[in-house]
Amino acid sequence: MPPRVFQMPPPHPNPRPSGPVADHAGLVEALRDEAVRLGFSRMGVASAAAADRDPRVHAAFRAWLEQGLAGPMTDWLVGHEFLRHNPDGMLQGVRSVVMLATDHPLPPPGEMPPGEGRIAAYAGGDDYHGLLRHRVNLLGAWLEARAPGCRTRGVVDSAPFSEREFGWLAGLGWFGKNCLLIDPSAGSFFLLTALLTDLVLPVAEPIRVDHCGTCTACLEACPTQAFVAPRVLDAGKCISGITIEQRGPVAEPLRPSVGEWVFGCDVCQQVCPWNRHAPGSGEPTLQPRAGAGGLPLGELLSLDEAGFRHRFRGSALLRAKRSGIARSAAIALGNRPDSGAAEALIAALDDDDPVVRGAVAWALGRWRCAGGELGAGAEAALAARLRSEDDIGVRREIDAALAAG
Ligand code: SF4
Ligand code: SF4
Repeated sequence: MPPRVFQMPPPHPNPRPSGPVADHAGLVEALRDEAVRLGFSRMGVASAAAADRDPRVHAAFRAWLEQGLAGPMTDWLVGHEFLRHNPDGMLQGVRSVVMLATDHPLPPPGEMPPGEGRIAAYAGGDDYHGLLRHRVNLLGAWLEARAPGCRTRGVVDSAPFSEREFGWLAGLGWFGKNCLLIDPSAGSFFLLTALLTDLVLPVAEPIRVDHCGTCTACLEACPTQAFVAPRVLDAGKCISGITIEQRGPVAEPLRPSVGEWVFGCDVCQQVCPWNRHAPGSGEPTLQPRAGAGGLPLGELLSLDEAGFRHRFRGSALLRAKRSGIARSAAIALGNRPDSGAAEALIAALDDDDPVVRGAVAWALGRWRCAGGELGAGAEAALAARLRSEDDIGVRREIDAALAAG
């Protein structure tokens, strides 16, 4: 799932596509049946035509980029902006976009045990990209067989494609104040996939009602206060962007708010009343590999590159890279000390990557301030590392850690 990276204006009515739509009504129902048979949860169809889309969406997206709110995704989004709004670049002559929702497992309830880090609910199992790519390719082959001469292309969310905009157009939900698509009957814990085709299919009716009403639960619950306004996210402050996309150090003021998250964040979905009855998923490959708990933070700090790739082979966590996961594990331990991870945290002061060493120094500084046996050990380790540390940024982190309190 890509980070929450764009804002949406209130929906407006979109005109219907012209073309031979009536003949395909039965085909859409058969396509829906096949999609469900393949494992997709819900399906809707949108027109691919630019004229059928809301120009305010693009204007808002541009303004959001220009305000510098795209955070770590800025370069990629700017570089792919044209393709993002023009699916013709992915399938020439595309006329319809079949949007497919796949429910994923729900976040585990309750608190994480000490020493464990949280990961977003969609990322606990195998990387969903492979599963969804396989399914959408099967669905495309089915459609090409049923409508000879048509062309299709499956798009999973790693491509520059505005899947939430098309998801809304396809009737799969409305845009919540948390910037996510929310299905009134299934909530927001789902993944989106698209099947582009040059067939003109009958399109769905978008949900034009703002079902958020006066609720502001997500805006208030966001740990980093990342929402500039309802439906406007500062991606540079979002824990999803910070833990998955951002390379380099995490800004010091944000570190306490990152809490125990080491990959993604579910908070603005967990508090949403529309997720009270979210169905979750029994799909075996999406079930959390770590069971109901989180990831052991000490272990995450101990992995070298080869160990990291082996441990997370086939998992979405590879995207954050070893350095990013170790950095986030250190921050999580700084926020919630655990004596069981002390040895690994102190050993990580010698990590090859200065970004990890800096985060570890910050975490040990928090332990030092808390005092006690852990605090004394942290202070001694920081002082020892300062004698050999030659990275200027890490030296600053250690100085700050030793001066804090
Ligand atoms: S609650 Fe979490 S995922 Fe939602 S905007 Fe805030 S930091 Fe990002
Ligand atoms: S928590 Fe409330 S305001 Fe936020 S998306 Fe859900 S219903 Fe809308």
